[in-house]
Amino acid sequence: MDLYAVLGLPPGAPEAEIRKAYRRLARRYHPNINPGDKAAEVRFRQITAAFDVLTDPVRRRKYEEQGVVVELSEATSFGFAGFDFTRAPVSGSGASTFGDLFAEVFQQRRGRQPGTMAERGSDLHTTIDIGFDESLRGVARSVTVLRRETCRVCRGSGMRRTAESPCSRCDGTGVLRSARGHMLFTKTCGACGGTGRQVHVTCDGCSGHGVESRSETLTIGIPAGTPHGDRIRVPGKGNGGWRGGPPGDVWVTVQVAEDPRFRREGDNLHYILPVALQEAALGAKIEIPTIDGPARVRIPPGTQSGQRFRLRERGVPSPRDGRRGDLIVEIRLMLPPILDERSKDLLREFGRINGEYARETPTT
Ligand SMILES: [Zn+2]
Ligand SMILES: [Zn+2]
Repeated sequence: MDLYAVLGLPPGAPEAEIRKAYRRLARRYHPNINPGDKAAEVRFRQITAAFDVLTDPVRRRKYEEQGVVVELSEATSFGFAGFDFTRAPVSGSGASTFGDLFAEVFQQRRGRQPGTMAERGSDLHTTIDIGFDESLRGVARSVTVLRRETCRVCRGSGMRRTAESPCSRCDGTGVLRSARGHMLFTKTCGACGGTGRQVHVTCDGCSGHGVESRSETLTIGIPAGTPHGDRIRVPGKGNGGWRGGPPGDVWVTVQVAEDPRFRREGDNLHYILPVALQEAALGAKIEIPTIDGPARVRIPPGTQSGQRFRLRERGVPSPRDGRRGDLIVEIRLMLPPILDERSKDLLREFGRINGEYARETPTT
């Protein structure tokens, strides 16, 4: 956090400027003036923290030498301590009483021109990678997004109110002079409208663009059963809107790692069960993996390769209603590598008894 920028000041500004900036900004962002406005509250804490450090000679030197980032504590008080609203500011002809100060705040709010083309902020897109097991149970993950939002220093105006100073364009005279031949022309200075003074300068926080980029870490709750490719919407966390428009959303695409055992189809899981010749022919009880742990299934005698068995509600919980899909077990018949003479003899014997059964039309 650049403490000087927080106060809208150039680095190394003198203490009198720091106090002046603090008084001005604290009046604007004080929580009592902005009830319920979280952004203003955060800004007020930053202003107060910056002021605390920069007006303490020891801490200020440390900050300037080492750039120590100051952590903000929640405990920063919102008291009006340190303000004297009855006294005029150190310099300038700005607001001088409590009432005037608040009038200024409200006037600025009205000045936001809600009618002029409010524009919704754009959406941001990001992805999260999770494991297969995590997708079944649900998981919380953090993502950091870089959002563009209204500059908190100038509230998007790109300009910063400052104490009145002579106009830099006309040196405070209010007129611009130009010579053409022997003639000397004068015209009203456009920068200050002929007043010779400037009240606004370009905002340091955003270089006059009215927007700043800020990274924010969001915690995304991924519900149990979320499939690969699902998108989760985080409303209002996209880029800030323009001219009072609402912010955009953040869209998080969930990418689920593949599992070596199960293939997901909708909320059903598919599992390929390799079985031995004698297991398929004679029937067997075989242990298979499920997402709830191992389970035993009974293979009936005469089971064919490619045959499917359905285990109800052993699939994935639906992320919508939590109802579980099925586990579909597909049989794959595996022939052993037959190398020994004894096995070969047995199979020849088997062939003599059963004939060319594989291509005969089954009798029903
Ligand atoms: Zn700004
Ligand atoms: Zn001027």
